[in-house]
Amino acid sequence: ERLKIVVVGSVAAGTSAAAKARRGSEDAEIVVYERDTDISYSGCGLPYYLGGRVETIDVLTPRDAAWFAKRYGIDVRTGHEVTGVDTAARTVTVRDLASGETFTDDYDELVLATGVSPVVPPLPGVDADGVFTLRNPSDATAIREWIENRGARRAVIVGAGYIGLETAEQLTERGLDVTVVEMEAHSMPRMDADVADRVDDELRSRGVELLTRARVTSIETSDDGAARAVRVEAGAEPGSGPGSGSGDAERTVETDLVVVAVGVRPNLDLARAAGVRVGESGAIAVDPAGRTSADHVWAVGDVAESFDLITGDPAWVPLGSTANKTGRIAGDALTGGDLEHRGILGTSIVRVFDLAVAQTGLTEDRARAAGFDPVVVHNIKPDRPAYLGGQEMLIKAVADRRTGRLLGAQAVGPSGVDKRIDVLATAITFGAKAEDLFHLDLAYAPTYATTKDPVHYTGMALD
Ligand code: FAD
Repeated sequence: ERLKIVVVGSVAAGTSAAAKARRGSEDAEIVVYERDTDISYSGCGLPYYLGGRVETIDVLTPRDAAWFAKRYGIDVRTGHEVTGVDTAARTVTVRDLASGETFTDDYDELVLATGVSPVVPPLPGVDADGVFTLRNPSDATAIREWIENRGARRAVIVGAGYIGLETAEQLTERGLDVTVVEMEAHSMPRMDADVADRVDDELRSRGVELLTRARVTSIETSDDGAARAVRVEAGAEPGSGPGSGSGDAERTVETDLVVVAVGVRPNLDLARAAGVRVGESGAIAVDPAGRTSADHVWAVGDVAESFDLITGDPAWVPLGSTANKTGRIAGDALTGGDLEHRGILGTSIVRVFDLAVAQTGLTEDRARAAGFDPVVVHNIKPDRPAYLGGQEMLIKAVADRRTGRLLGAQAVGPSGVDKRIDVLATAITFGAKAEDLFHLDLAYAPTYATTKDPVHYTGMALD
């Protein structure tokens, strides 16, 4: 009998799983349910639509349901929300959001690719017009329309993670006055303070007002119900949560819009309905192929937990890079393939004005928390010779004092950071020791590198 695969969610992971399942099985029936109208879009490009570097939103949504039907013979049904799962009967309950009708569909294999939703702290005024989150094309369209229709000149971004900072950069480039409010002591809270300091400096030198150890306590609205100001409490204790406790100085930041970017949480409703185990990170626990604890139920992408490539511990860093990979792996495994996920380093990169800001593996803080005795170096070197415009980058690298194994790196600089972080991520993936870095045979011409590359110097300094 024909294998029937039902996928829930149709952005990065769901579409990867479906497309790979088609390659693994020519005759399987593959149905993808998506409650939204847009599918398979580049969430990562959304900030650039806000700034105008991406002119139309369609560029970010190149594929629609008709494309998937023609290219892969996959039936993508947008505007359909899966509301329940019966794992014993192997059925899902589906609501057609346009007609309001509910029906059941059966499956042999069910793939949960339900992703995450932005966290919205329960602040007074957070539901006001002009308060946004940024997750999908509708959000980006709404923000850009608001800016254009209201002639917005000021914005407050709550949260200085990478989405907050990309948004801050793009709105600044649009000509808005931007304030970023961050509870922790520095921007990019997943990075070490001594690296993130450079990001803080870059933001401030570009005219962004960055308030750290600061907490939004409420959003004030004007008579027409639109956000007009944000109340900010200074002196917040890092990690104490928005809207709680009392600090010292309060101030009011007037604004025309607010973007809340304080993090995301997994969409677990269906996982709960299916009774699958949720891991210690709060995302769905899976085996390396993507199987959950329930028979014939798989989880991929941002909604699924991963594991740290170095420590083997459960880890959750929701990124499009990983979502594509885990979708493909499960699509392979559920059609008889043997792909397995090998874990994550949380490798990521973000541009903040002229700085590329990147990390892979363990930070110094996390290495210590994981029980390592870290050796740490800060290596400042130009990416190319000065005579061809070389500019300094900082590489902070961490190795294990006992074994010499490289554990992680963070890099910040105007150019060449992308290449170095990927070389270091590759080295860490294959278990390199600090001493191995010097021996890497890396490409050199003065247009691209120095005879001894910043990666070589990092290894030499650590060794
Ligand atoms: P999602 O994209 O969250 O998609 C899940 C889908 O499931 C949603 O469309 C949802 O509507 C649907 N769904 C949920 N429940 C149901 C249900 N019950 N029934 C039907 N449908 C349902 N990652 C990077 O690696 N690099 C970047 O530079 C980067 N930049 C980003 C910038 C922004 C502004 C944002 C928002 C994200 C960025 N990301 C980046 C993250 C990346 O976009 C995500 O990791 C990726 O989209 C995850 O894909 P996913 O398919 O797992 O989940």
